[in-house]
Amino acid sequence: MSLKITTNLVEESRISSFDPDNIVFGRVFTDHMFSCDYVNGQWQNFRIDPFGKIPLSPTLSALHYGQSIFEGMKAFKNEEGVVTLFRANDNLKRLNTSAERMCMPALPEEIFMEGLKTLVTIDKDWIPTTPGSALYIRPFMFATDDFLGVKPSENYKFMIYACPVAAYYSHPLKVRIEDHYTRASKGGVGSAKCAGNYAASMYPTKLAQKDGFDQVLWTDGEHHQYLEETGTSNVFVITKDAVYTPELNDSLLAGITRDSIIKLLRSKGLNVVEKKVSVDELINWHKNGELKEMFVSGTAATVTNIELFNYKGQNFNVNHTENLIGKEILSDFQKIRTLEMPDQFGWVEIVSESEVTY
Ligand SMILES: *Cc1c(COP(=O)(O)O)cnc(C)c1O
Repeated sequence: MSLKITTNLVEESRISSFDPDNIVFGRVFTDHMFSCDYVNGQWQNFRIDPFGKIPLSPTLSALHYGQSIFEGMKAFKNEEGVVTLFRANDNLKRLNTSAERMCMPALPEEIFMEGLKTLVTIDKDWIPTTPGSALYIRPFMFATDDFLGVKPSENYKFMIYACPVAAYYSHPLKVRIEDHYTRASKGGVGSAKCAGNYAASMYPTKLAQKDGFDQVLWTDGEHHQYLEETGTSNVFVITKDAVYTPELNDSLLAGITRDSIIKLLRSKGLNVVEKKVSVDELINWHKNGELKEMFVSGTAATVTNIELFNYKGQNFNVNHTENLIGKEILSDFQKIRTLEMPDQFGWVEIVSESEVTY
C-alpha cells in the first residue's frame, strides 16, 4: 500500500458485545472508521481512528445546503475466512458521478480503495458469515466549509464506516405506486446518491406506511405513469416473456445490484429488457395472468420480492410463493461472493486470505 494512513487503533475491541445471530440493521458499528480531508484543493490527512463522534461546527455547509453524498456496499467472508468485496470500483465510479453533480471534488481511486481495504482488513472479525449477512460499508463525503452563504464548499470530508448486517427486509413487500408525490424530476438529482433525495421521499413513505404499505414505488414526476424505483432499491417485473426493469434516466439511481442482475440473467439466456415500464402495462400483465414475479434490488435490500402493489386505492396481489428468479439470483450472488461459484464477470476482489488452516 502506498497511501500513508495514520492508524490509531482501539485499545479494546467491542466485538465481544456483538451477537452475529441477532443483528439489528444499522445499529452496530465496527471498531474503526476511515477519514480524510479535502483542504486547499488536496485530499490529505488519511486516518483510521476508533469509530466515534466527530466535532462539527454549527455553520457546517453540508448541514445547511446539502452537499452530501454517500455509497453503500458490502464485504463478505466465506467459511474459510476469505474476505471479498463486490464491485467496489463501481461504487467509486458512482460516488464520483454523484460528486460531479453536486459540485464536489472527485475522490482518487487509490484513496477510496486503500481506505476501504485497510478498514475492512482491520475490522474483518466483524464480518458475519451466516448466509444473507455481510459487512455493510458506508463511504460518504460532505461539505465542511464554516461559512454562511450558498456556494460550493471549498473543504470536504470523506469517511468510511462499516456495520455488520443481516438482510434489510425480512418479508415480501407491499408497495404503493405513487401518483401524487415525486421523488426526483427530469434534470434533477435523482440519479445522484445525495442525502436530500432520501429526505424528500420520507413524507410520502410515511403516508404509505400509515396505510399499511412497506414502501412507495415511485413513478416519473411528469406523468406519474412510468415506474422508477422504490427510493432505496431498483425494481424488476417478470412476465412470462421477459424480465423488465425501468431504463436508466436522471431521476433514478443506477443500482449496481440492478446492473449485476441484468448481466447475470442475460448470461443465463433470459430476455432482460430495459425500457419504460408503465403502470397501465403492469396492470395489464396482472389482468392477463402474465405477471410472474416482482422484486426490488439493492445492496441493502439484496433481492426482496413484492407481494402486492397498490395503485389509486386498488390492491393487486403478486404471486410470491415461488419467486423462482429472485431466489436463483440471491443464491448465485451468495455463491459468487463467497467464491463457491466462478466469478465470470470479474466482480469479486479478495481483500484478505483464508485464516483457517487445517
Ligand atoms: C443505493 C440505491 C439503490 C440501489 O443501488 P445498489 O448499488 O444496487 O445498492 C437504488 N435506488 C436508490 C435511490 C439508491 O440510493
